[in-house]
Amino acid sequence: MPPVIDHEKCIGCGTCADICNSDIFVFDRTVDKTPVVKFPEECWHCESCVLACPSGAITLRLPLSYSLMHIDASILHSSQTPCSASSKEARS
Ligand code: SF4
Ligand code: SF4
Repeated sequence: MPPVIDHEKCIGCGTCADICNSDIFVFDRTVDKTPVVKFPEECWHCESCVLACPSGAITLRLPLSYSLMHIDASILHSSQTPCSASSKEARS
């Protein structure tokens, strides 16, 4: 899901528009009080805008495929632990 700006919280600093490498936001201070999410389909969910926003005004929900990748990585990590342990035992 592309970023969503809470217009009540946004202070119009423009940090999100400055920091996004994909230029998802368009912010014309002469026209808008808050940035506009102009190209949502280009967002690659890096969360830089969420972390940089000083007022916590941006929410970003990771797509299911990203969530599954995270779960897969967790399973892989936990399944390596017993193997690592057994290989240590075999060496000693
Ligand atoms: S999550 Fe990353 S790519 Fe998406 S709008 Fe924020 S800074 Fe840009
Ligand atoms: S970084 Fe946050 S407060 Fe600043 S313009 Fe973007 S949404 Fe608004």
